[in-house]
Amino acid sequence: MHILMVGTGYVGLVTGACFAEMGHTVVCLDINKEKIDMLQKGNVPIFEPGLDELVKRNLQQKRLRFTTDYAKAVTDATVCFIAVPTPSLPDGSCDISYVEAAAREIAKHMNGYKIIVNKSTVPVGTAARVKAIIQEERGSSVSFDVVSNPEFLKEGAAVHDCLKPDRIIIGANAPKPIEVLKEVYSPFTLSHDRVLVMDVLSAEMTKYAANAMLALRISFMNEIADVCKKVGANVNEVRKGIGSDSRIGYSFLYPGVGYGGSCFPKDVRALIATAKNVGCSPLLMEATDAVNERQKKVLGQKMLQYFASRGGVKNKTIGIWGLSFKPDTDDMREAPSITFIEELLKEGARVRLFDPVSIPNAKRILGDSSQITWCNDEFEAASGADAVALLTEWKQFRLVDFHCIRDQMKGIAFFDGRNQYKPLDMKDKGFDYISIGVPDQLQGSKK
Ligand code: NAD
Repeated sequence: MHILMVGTGYVGLVTGACFAEMGHTVVCLDINKEKIDMLQKGNVPIFEPGLDELVKRNLQQKRLRFTTDYAKAVTDATVCFIAVPTPSLPDGSCDISYVEAAAREIAKHMNGYKIIVNKSTVPVGTAARVKAIIQEERGSSVSFDVVSNPEFLKEGAAVHDCLKPDRIIIGANAPKPIEVLKEVYSPFTLSHDRVLVMDVLSAEMTKYAANAMLALRISFMNEIADVCKKVGANVNEVRKGIGSDSRIGYSFLYPGVGYGGSCFPKDVRALIATAKNVGCSPLLMEATDAVNERQKKVLGQKMLQYFASRGGVKNKTIGIWGLSFKPDTDDMREAPSITFIEELLKEGARVRLFDPVSIPNAKRILGDSSQITWCNDEFEAASGADAVALLTEWKQFRLVDFHCIRDQMKGIAFFDGRNQYKPLDMKDKGFDYISIGVPDQLQGSKK
């Protein structure tokens, strides 16, 4: 099977490499020449556990190639996946212009029957739009089908998720592309059938519904955390108490600094736009988004409040652990750390930033500032700090030598945006410990 993957980002590169690993012949195409030059040399431009070796191995064994040349890549392929960005427009709706551009390029070079697969997260009706674009370009001179095959991988575990998917959704309105896609995915379904076949519109909608549900759980828990703190309950206990109910489960129930990344925020907003467009009132989705926007500011407010009686946060030094929107990725898109840091900079604080992999991407977003010091590890970030804040729960922060951290710091405040540590334990170690959804009397904070 000759596969073309258009878009070589977190989804396209991982999926393309996994297809190659399973024995398909894969060409990954991107309009970013710099990225393709790197990949042709075996250098992976993103951080994703396990991806580096997968790319190198399959490149070496010639099952995986990288190109910017649409003409040859489309001519050679039977199945053309589109995995390009679908960011938000200013009104929150989904910008499908990258998908449209990719579809137009594919159309120009089609030389026989092709299956075009939308893997990008796209609003309901986009497969029909792709079909219309190809017909506009080529009239009835080409035969093709357009399929929806949304992607569910998680950054940070993308290779694992791709090789062992929970389910593979194929949205198609004709038998032939269903058979071909089942063959493409057959190496991933040997142990049991994971393929769900449905109509195109339902497949497109499923992706948004899945992300909205996960985002909803996070916002729900952040709202519960707020109530917990005010009524004297500990959200960490409440989380376990409800997660142990098999109807609820533990996943996506962690309170924190809000969700970020390139999917949940934009997908929730796109679903809101879709719903409104057809006359629905997406109350839950709007609340999910609003709670998240509020939550991204909660830790910053706690910090301002803490320092209000200590001369204010201006000219204070704040060490920050973790910048990416979640652990095991270098992705900084819509990371809650950005909101937190920008607020501190605006208030005149100095920040000492550390993240295991995302500093280059963070530098691009936060830019150069005399208020920012980039650090090589969590100890350096804590050095001389009036407070330390944990924003991303990288594993290396789980068992830190807090006596050593405390000795390096100027102040004693620790703001835990991911509820990673035990409040009383942190108090014993000499910290004013402030976390999410835990009342002051249970935190051991002096404030
Ligand atoms: P990304 O920004 O990491 O990569 C997209 C790539 O597409 C870029 O390298 C860009 O240069 C390239 N591109 C843009 N226009 C192009 C064109 N016309 N032709 C060829 N290449 C083009 O994006 P991503 O995170 O991989 O996301 C891709 C899609 O998958 C989005 O719709 C996203 O919502 C969805 N998705 C993402 C994830 C995730 O965790 N990142 C998970 C599931 C679904």
